Amino acid sequence: MRRTTRIAGALAGIAVAALALSACNSGSPGDSGTDGATDDAGGDTALWEVATDVQLEGSPTFDAMTDRGKVVIGVKNDQPGLGYEDAASGERSGFDIGIAQWIAASLGFDEDQIEYQTIPSANREQALVNGDIDYYVGTYSITDKRKEQIDFAGPYFITGQGLLVAADNEDINGPDDLEGKIVCSVTGSTPLQRIRDEYNPGDTVEYDTYSQCVEQLKASAVDAITTDEAILAGYVAQDPDALKIAGEPFSEERYGVGLQKGDAALQEHINALFTDGNDVWQALFDENLAPAGISGEQPEVDPTS
Ligand code: GLU
Repeated sequence: MRRTTRIAGALAGIAVAALALSACNSGSPGDSGTDGATDDAGGDTALWEVATDVQLEGSPTFDAMTDRGKVVIGVKNDQPGLGYEDAASGERSGFDIGIAQWIAASLGFDEDQIEYQTIPSANREQALVNGDIDYYVGTYSITDKRKEQIDFAGPYFITGQGLLVAADNEDINGPDDLEGKIVCSVTGSTPLQRIRDEYNPGDTVEYDTYSQCVEQLKASAVDAITTDEAILAGYVAQDPDALKIAGEPFSEERYGVGLQKGDAALQEHINALFTDGNDVWQALFDENLAPAGISGEQPEVDPTS
């Protein structure tokens, strides 16, 4: 599936410059499976080149990808701007999808060699432990508890827990206003845990996905949804007449790429990609998250993530 991406003038300039540079090395800019963006005229101005002759010594995950000739990536499919799958076309889009594709390209895999698996929050660690996926990119907060089972590369983005309410709701302006209210979140997520541990909602209900919570909120079956603001902003952008974010973020969620435990070679490879790739990061951010009013800058990689 070819992703069609549009980037604005100045960023297209960066992408063209990057392509020109890499073209000097590879000699075939236009037809080498490059991707990551399409310019306004519909031509390729790739944000990245698909790497060739990649060696990643000591990475069992990379060896497995190479043997099977494709990369299997765990993602979300119902989070607009982050990890989204168009029901009609099957096309995947969003910042996390872009990050996932960029990593794949750096390992030598183009978009046709990616298999996505949609995996909900509660099943991420197990999917990695089982080896069902090579890596996971989907609003996945780095936590010590998760690090008992898996490793992370990154962080590649930082957001914070917030609240989503009906646009006409005046009562809820922060997590201290939840007494007697029903709050929806997702099984296995950090926001659900935090709202239960540190605040005092009337009740909590949990689903597998945030879009199920959005349906509940729109049906007035719950009073609020809690999760990361970056996720909530995507739902508001889809339906600003019905939904709004209430109050300020009240946690720090540092997004990492979920990896099988012990694959230090892959972790270092991805961390180096992030460290060297500020222009790519910025273009992905500007294209996918900025339109929903999300602000942010690329965080520094933490090698101990
Ligand atoms: N970032 C939080 C987490 O990893 C919430 C978003 C999600 O469930 O993916 O738990």
